[in-house]
Amino acid sequence: MDRRDQESIARELALEMAALPVIDSHEHLPSEEEAVRKQADVLTRLYCHYSITSAVTAGLPGDRLALKDTSIPLPERWARFRPYLDAIRDTGHARAAQLTARHLFDVDDINDDTYIDLSEKLQAGNRPGSYKRILGGCCGIERVLNQGAWDDGPQGWAVQVYRGFMGLAGGVHSAWTSWRAEHDAPTGPREWVTLWLERLLARGVVGLKFAASLPLECVENTEAERLFKKLAQEEIELTEGCQLGAWIMHEAIRQAPAFRLPVAVHCGIIWNNWGDFRTLDPLRLIPLIQKHRNTQFDLYHGGIPWMREIAVMANQYPNVWLNLVWCHQISPYMTESMLNEWMDLVPANKIIGFAGDNCDGPEKTFGVLMMARENIARALAVRVLRGQMNEERALEITRLWFHQNPRTLYSLDER
Ligand SMILES: [Zn+2]
Repeated sequence: MDRRDQESIARELALEMAALPVIDSHEHLPSEEEAVRKQADVLTRLYCHYSITSAVTAGLPGDRLALKDTSIPLPERWARFRPYLDAIRDTGHARAAQLTARHLFDVDDINDDTYIDLSEKLQAGNRPGSYKRILGGCCGIERVLNQGAWDDGPQGWAVQVYRGFMGLAGGVHSAWTSWRAEHDAPTGPREWVTLWLERLLARGVVGLKFAASLPLECVENTEAERLFKKLAQEEIELTEGCQLGAWIMHEAIRQAPAFRLPVAVHCGIIWNNWGDFRTLDPLRLIPLIQKHRNTQFDLYHGGIPWMREIAVMANQYPNVWLNLVWCHQISPYMTESMLNEWMDLVPANKIIGFAGDNCDGPEKTFGVLMMARENIARALAVRVLRGQMNEERALEITRLWFHQNPRTLYSLDER
């Protein structure tokens, strides 16, 4: 009988995990030059973005962006944020900030006495080479799949998951204008999508990004050709531009497997306040998943709050992968508990275990990765403790989730 408890097994597993290579399957990072140009402090790099959303929910009035406006002195911004910190300090996002402060900057607690010292340390480290030092050195991240300005091109350390199809439901006109500024006119809408995907591949893009709110209906091919002619002649109406845009989104999803580009889909919870997350219910995607069986769908964010529904989807459809991006910091407890349900339902080669999902700089990814290791180790430790799995198998699963599965799905060995 195993006399250890779940926490001690989890600690041992997490220690072993820390030595394994990691693929960071999703970030929104700016280029390092841009990150270095901006002032790094506790509100621009740690309690930023998601934690500001939590603070707004807790009651923070006014313009949220003012907290990150470095033309306003830090003590003034801290004083605005401080009344809400006590309310949000136990949230998952805040924990990622606290772990980063403690383990990357040696600041045990973020409070009135430490925020200036911590901010000075953040700024001191905010210099060329910080991406390699933090993401490569401290985190052990081998490649980054980014959706921000940071892009190292084909075979580079940071490669892109392309978001340009996402907004086409709102019209196709500006995409057409930028296409025509650089390329000849294609003969029809289908050829346009093919050429578009070819160009993306040549630029080193490894996947396409959509949101689960995408339009599920689109016009017939003959109608798309008619609308395309109107577009080419600059005669297209606004609603027709939206119809053609929806058709192009569907066509890109249809053609994606020919280019070995998986389709990543944002599902569930929204980063900002006041959105209607019901529009991002992953169950909406089922007809699309059934129709395009060769397209590989990488469903993001555990579909929170539809983590059970999304697990059943990954159980039923061979073309669905589940990605834990953002889950670790949205709710560590939710993630830990859903993972054992997922393991009951979903094959081990279909789960992607980690992504930082940060926007402002590389620092907080360190804390998120610590949480990812903790959450996954705790979930696996339950099975080890019950004698359903040994540590060797637990680490094998970890290797798949953190490294092998994203490499395989996004064909990273060739890109
Ligand atoms: Zn994201």
